[in-house]
Amino acid sequence: MAALLARRVLATVAGPLRLLSPCAAASASCAPLLSGLAGAVRAGAVPRLALPQPAAGFKTKAVLKKRCKDCYLVKRRGRWFVYCKTNPRHKQRQM
Ligand SMILES: [Zn+2]
Repeated sequence: MAALLARRVLATVAGPLRLLSPCAAASASCAPLLSGLAGAVRAGAVPRLALPQPAAGFKTKAVLKKRCKDCYLVKRRGRWFVYCKTNPRHKQRQM
């Protein structure tokens, strides 16, 4: 019963995704775009900070601010972080 339900849920989730990905249908037309993007990255168009540890999903800032009532400050690994449960885009990391 549970397996059947899970399979049905997977089918409903994966169905629209397959329709949405244009590269699956026309990979030839997407190839130049992708190679252009790779070239831009190689040329250094996207500046990257060398982080000693991974900090995915954080904005790196010099001055941290709470952006809503649910933001809270935590000091971890010698650095201040702002976390936010209700709005994860508020997450910040001290430079
Ligand atoms: Zn917040």
